[in-house]
Amino acid sequence: MAKYIFVTGGVTSSLGKGIIAASLAKLLQARGLRVTIQKFDPYINVDPGTLNPYEHGECYVTEDGAETDLDLGHYERFLNHPTSQANNVTTGKIYQTVINKEREGAYLGKTVQVIPHITDEIKRRILILGNEGHFDIVITELGGTVGDIESLPYIEAVRQLQWELGNENCLVIHLTLIPYLKAAKELKTKPTQHSVRMLSENGVHPDVIVCRTEEPMYLDLKKKIALFCNVTVDSVIEANDVSTIYEVPLEMLRERLDTICLQKLHIPVTRDPEMSRWREFLDKLKYPKSRVTIGLIGKYVELQDAYKSILESFIHAGAMNECKVVVQNVHSEFITSENVAEKLAGLDGLLVAPGFGPRGIEGKIMAIRYAREHQIPFFGICLGMQCAVIEFSRNVLGLAGAHSTEMNPDSPYPVIDLMEEQKKITTKGGTMRLGAYPCELTPGSLVQKMYNRSSISERHRHRYEFNNKYLHQMEEAGMVASGKNPATDLVEIIELPGHPFFVGTQFHPELKSTVEKPHPLFVEFIRAAKGFSEKKKVPTSFALPESVVHPD
Ligand code: GLN
Repeated sequence: MAKYIFVTGGVTSSLGKGIIAASLAKLLQARGLRVTIQKFDPYINVDPGTLNPYEHGECYVTEDGAETDLDLGHYERFLNHPTSQANNVTTGKIYQTVINKEREGAYLGKTVQVIPHITDEIKRRILILGNEGHFDIVITELGGTVGDIESLPYIEAVRQLQWELGNENCLVIHLTLIPYLKAAKELKTKPTQHSVRMLSENGVHPDVIVCRTEEPMYLDLKKKIALFCNVTVDSVIEANDVSTIYEVPLEMLRERLDTICLQKLHIPVTRDPEMSRWREFLDKLKYPKSRVTIGLIGKYVELQDAYKSILESFIHAGAMNECKVVVQNVHSEFITSENVAEKLAGLDGLLVAPGFGPRGIEGKIMAIRYAREHQIPFFGICLGMQCAVIEFSRNVLGLAGAHSTEMNPDSPYPVIDLMEEQKKITTKGGTMRLGAYPCELTPGSLVQKMYNRSSISERHRHRYEFNNKYLHQMEEAGMVASGKNPATDLVEIIELPGHPFFVGTQFHPELKSTVEKPHPLFVEFIRAAKGFSEKKKVPTSFALPESVVHPD
């Protein structure tokens, strides 16, 4: 039978519950246990797929096509294990299930209520992952902050489960903030005492308290928290700010978070966690030998969570190349033909981001033209790939006004068009082409060499597609469709041979990059950017042969 760990949050949001949960999961996995993580989000949207990135950051897509919270990306990047529909549940999903059952008459005339019907559905979704027999431990992160009205049914479900499963089969970790008051030069525990009290009023008593702090905690402070929150001193865990999220598992190991949890769950601690590959990655990340600057061209660049998986993929690929990747945000709305050279000056590569709608689209197209003509490594993802096709059509094929029908339904050259199966769809939620699809790579193409395979599977989230009516014309002009869906012939990858790196993918490679398995396209993109940056350093008149400039 699986054991359950619940992670709640107190005092403020954004304390990093997802990272703490992922770090604990990593340590338990490294000790040989089978672990998964699940997140409950207390909002009423059925999933975050319809949310603007400004609301809730990036929408992360799982293999089975669920549009989920970005914390699932952290879970996958840390555990190197795919998540699924079952790993992200919202209040909207819970209510939808209960209301559908009520309409079917499944409640046999009973009054349907938050307790027991909503809480029962929450419990069912918590237990489902553990019941399948695939996991020893299920970590459930409860979104929101203790004290929020919408979190109450989740806390109540945890209270009931603790009673039903017994204390040796589940435990509660409460993540809290210990603020530092500069004027008093003191760390303060009162907000933590209050949030633990609030949790206790709802019948849930935390077993472990993880304290986020900006200043080191001393033993007496831990003792004080232990005394007032009714836990043992070794169950008060210090989580200091660190330079990268990837250090948190090692911090938690030092603080013995994993051993304490195992002891409380009556699981014997049989071996040390095997973290050598993780440490190797961290070493490369901390001591890079070179540096590149990549322009991230998008329209949500002011919000760091909007392109989370892309930024993390750069970190993985940078470490692999022993290269520091500095990401420079370039807002596509403000790129014009007059300032494009100035905006892109000093960049060693451009990544044109995914997105929806016309805002900022012309800036993306202009940036791509500049990268194509100046041999700057370019990587386009989803909308970024579509923009590369539009740019090529307009400026190489001479198809003036070529566009995606998403931006201009009356374009004379709709080189990107709505997919056939999308034409009948009228509702927005969960209706895109979502999740993993196979893709065949053209033998001898750039991407086939990068992946070193002939067929791949990657995750999608889009409605529009490369219009195959223009494929022949594009190929004649030198663009290669190097990845195609074997069943439908949809073009999934385009590339330009002869350019140091010009690749666009209809899918989202960033969703599959993990610490242990950096994504090959990101690794090669950074390698190309490194090559570009090296070349800039050598005056052209003294340029060395390629092989000497790039010993790697
Ligand atoms: N808006 C485009 C489409 O729906 C691209 C989507 C994306 O970049 N994820 O096809």
